[in-house]
Amino acid sequence: MTDSATATTAGSTPPPPRLPGLVPAPVDLPGRVAGLRAEVRSFVADELAAGAWTPREDTWLSGWDERFSTELGKRGWLGMTVPTEYGGHGRGALERYVVTEELLAAGAPVAAHWVADRQIGPSLLRFGTEEQRQAFLPGIARGEIYFGIGMSEPDSGSDLASVRSRADRVDGGWELTGTKVWTSGAHHAHAFFALVRTSPKDDTDRHAGLSQLIVELDRPGITIRPIPLLTGAHHFNEVVFDKVFVPDTRVLGEIGQGWHQVTSELAFERSGPERYLSTFPLLVALLREISAQDLDAGRRRDLGGLVARYWTLRRLSLSIAGALEAGEAPELSAAVVKDLGTRFENEVIDAARLLWSVPPDPRAEAGYARLLADAVLHAPGFTLRGGTNEILRGIVARGLGLR
Ligand SMILES: Cc1cc2nc3c(=O)[nH]c(=O)nc-3n(C[C@H](O)[C@H](O)[C@H](O)COP(=O)(O)OP(=O)(O)OC[C@H]3O[C@@H](n4cnc5c(N)ncnc54)[C@H](O)[C@@H]3O)c2cc1C
Repeated sequence: MTDSATATTAGSTPPPPRLPGLVPAPVDLPGRVAGLRAEVRSFVADELAAGAWTPREDTWLSGWDERFSTELGKRGWLGMTVPTEYGGHGRGALERYVVTEELLAAGAPVAAHWVADRQIGPSLLRFGTEEQRQAFLPGIARGEIYFGIGMSEPDSGSDLASVRSRADRVDGGWELTGTKVWTSGAHHAHAFFALVRTSPKDDTDRHAGLSQLIVELDRPGITIRPIPLLTGAHHFNEVVFDKVFVPDTRVLGEIGQGWHQVTSELAFERSGPERYLSTFPLLVALLREISAQDLDAGRRRDLGGLVARYWTLRRLSLSIAGALEAGEAPELSAAVVKDLGTRFENEVIDAARLLWSVPPDPRAEAGYARLLADAVLHAPGFTLRGGTNEILRGIVARGLGLR
């Protein structure tokens, strides 16, 4: 059966179906990045040889290592896309992509600088004042200033527009009251962008009256309490504001424009290689473990399928990096990468459990059992953090005009 959209002339190759706004133009990495990739690999090899860290899963969430971040800063691998007048390196999104990809693939401890480098820098460039850029960007590029994300609240996760943290106008600034939750790294970070209500809720426009404040986390009136992970590790937090004064100089962008600003920040948060590489060290370890085995055709097909999917996701994620480099705002395709990528991360774990039956051991210091344990224990968060898959599918459906 054919229809007008799929019929082709015999012998010709049908063009791939294009959904407007869903998949940006394909991108090939320029030749110049090969040298950069080699440099990062050599640095990683030296660090591993020196025993500086052990490769782990999901290190952009849990691998907090300030020494490592400052080493990257010294090599010019943070703030790569930030202009040089703000202490950055004026390089492209694709070069940044290569560095990020190499570090994640190696299971390197990148959590300390992660949020600042990924989304705070670009947001400051887009919405920040000159003073804010000068205050934060050079330290971010050196790997010395760390940020968290202050979006979610006890009753506001998927429905972010319902946040209840409130900032009231006072002399010279704003007085902040409320609670944020699941705040990754807030107990180490210097600051976060808090999404707060600055004018009462308007039932005709739920997104109006929201603003972003840059909250320095050592201000009086802030209490940070741990929320332990399944592993018992202290990664995320509850952050309570009790009449915290935030000066006017720490308003990000425009009062009332918080929703617009936060959604553009989320494109940076959702599209990167971390959305399909959290379990990559496990995939590599799995391939190593079973390479010597005589696998039956079905298992070989399953493994081949996983690797092929990894390459497809990488193509898609790279095309988004290309779109970001071209100054586009690929929110829709970022949502697709995050949905498909986080499901892929979980399938790597399923494959690891089925194909190589070593039980996960959270007490192991390193190796396959440890990687599998980390992956299993972190897996519940993959499809939640940064917006759940159900929410992402809603974004895609709306973007395509399907609802
Ligand atoms: C590891 C990890 C790190 C995190 N770090 C941070 C951080 O640093 N800063 C921060 O602000 N937040 C952070 N979060 C919070 C994260 O953004 C929220 O967990 C997420 O947005 C979901 O919100 P929720 O947990 O309140 O779930 P809910 O919104 O209550 O959702 C519960 C379930 O209902 C479904 N659901 C909700 N609404 C709909 C709908 N309209 N249609 C269909 N299904 C729906 C969801 O998909 C989900 O399955 C982190 C979360 C995790 C797991």
